[in-house]
Amino acid sequence: MKVAVIGSGIWGACTAYFLNKEGCDVELYDMWGAGNSRSGSGGASRIIRLAYGYDEIYTELTNNSFNFWQELTDESERELYNECGMLWMVSQNDSNYIKNSKKHIESRGHSLVQIEKKDAKKKYPEINFDDINEIYFEKKAGALMASRCCKNVVRKYQSEGGKFYLGKVKVFEDKLNNKESFTFNDKVINADKFVIACGPWNRILFPKMLGSKTYISRQEVYYFSVPNNNANNYNLSNIPCWLDLNENNPSYYGIPFHLNKGFKIAYDERSTIFDPDKDDRIPLTHLVERTKKYFYYRFPRLHRLPIAETRVCQYENSLDGNYIINYHEDNDNVLILSGSSGHGFKLGPGLGELVKDIITSDKKIPNFFNISRLKNIKTESQYYNSQIKYNKKRLFN
Ligand SMILES: Cc1cc2nc3c(=O)[nH]c(=O)nc-3n(C[C@H](O)[C@H](O)[C@H](O)COP(=O)(O)OP(=O)(O)OC[C@H]3O[C@@H](n4cnc5c(N)ncnc54)[C@H](O)[C@@H]3O)c2cc1C
Repeated sequence: MKVAVIGSGIWGACTAYFLNKEGCDVELYDMWGAGNSRSGSGGASRIIRLAYGYDEIYTELTNNSFNFWQELTDESERELYNECGMLWMVSQNDSNYIKNSKKHIESRGHSLVQIEKKDAKKKYPEINFDDINEIYFEKKAGALMASRCCKNVVRKYQSEGGKFYLGKVKVFEDKLNNKESFTFNDKVINADKFVIACGPWNRILFPKMLGSKTYISRQEVYYFSVPNNNANNYNLSNIPCWLDLNENNPSYYGIPFHLNKGFKIAYDERSTIFDPDKDDRIPLTHLVERTKKYFYYRFPRLHRLPIAETRVCQYENSLDGNYIINYHEDNDNVLILSGSSGHGFKLGPGLGELVKDIITSDKKIPNFFNISRLKNIKTESQYYNSQIKYNKKRLFN
């Protein structure tokens, strides 16, 4: 079977890898290359964690990914995965998200333990826990070095014979039944199956299918400086990845000092629409100020230390924050992977393997990812309003 995979972000890269390993004839295309700066999979790092509230399907896909990440890092000269754990700080009143995760994590042989505030203060003296109601530690969690990982997946795929093409694929959604609906350098791409994994560009390529079902939001990431005489106190050996669960303000999360960059912090809020082709990737002053206020409050020993580096990127959100895995209604040889909604990196390998099974063994696509669920969600005003309304109790990251 010949399969063309369009997009080599982490979803397309892992899908191509598993299809190639299965013996398919795979062509992988990307307009700027794996883990490029504008893709959702670019940038230095991402959190991997199993906690997903009651949405067990993500816990399962993440759990299925750990071995692949470990193998990839073992094969590499550079660090790709650091299993430093994850600290959940609940500053909102309701900790159901975490509590609902516990049984799914434990059923896979991993742990989520509650920590007393006094013990947390002792163990992590750099963190201000004053307003935190509950604290949990997830051991099987950590940081993936994102762009590096994505590039290494494509290298591994190529070293095993997979074909890669750099450049833009043109898609004609209104002619999907036509043999000429996908072209590259003005030549038709011939394949038995097409897998589309173009992240924020999916909705531009497939406006009929996705135009009212997904939206793109601006996300800013900041790397704060750490003191020059005790940087080690702030690295992943001493502070794990963390997230402050807060439903009224943005939930901030972070990856302590890594790759000699700085102490990373970002927010999980999708309220500013972003154009991945036209918008400058420069942080906005009011968002920088908001983050500084939070960061210096939560990590008082880092008060006034400057931001060392920043990055602006985007989430490709579905209206309910869950993924879309669906054949196109005009052609059931075209499988669309969309709506990674700011939480799709960690489980790229698990998802790639699932897509391989869907393509090669007709495995049923889980209903959870069917696009028809989004039919009745009203989107006429601001997409993100409906997103916030529909997901008030849920966390995406
Ligand atoms: C700030 C931030 C923090 C995040 N934190 C986390 C986290 O902690 N944990 C986590 O699991 N996830 C996280 N995510 C989400 C995660 O990074 C994304 O869900 C994931 O990387 C999306 O991968 P993708 O393959 O779907 O898309 P992308 O990585 O965007 O890849 C799409 C690719 O398609 C290519 N492309 C587009 N159009 C064409 C075309 N016409 N022809 C050829 N190629 C094309 C692009 O060049 C691009 O490389 C975060 C995202 C952001 C922005």
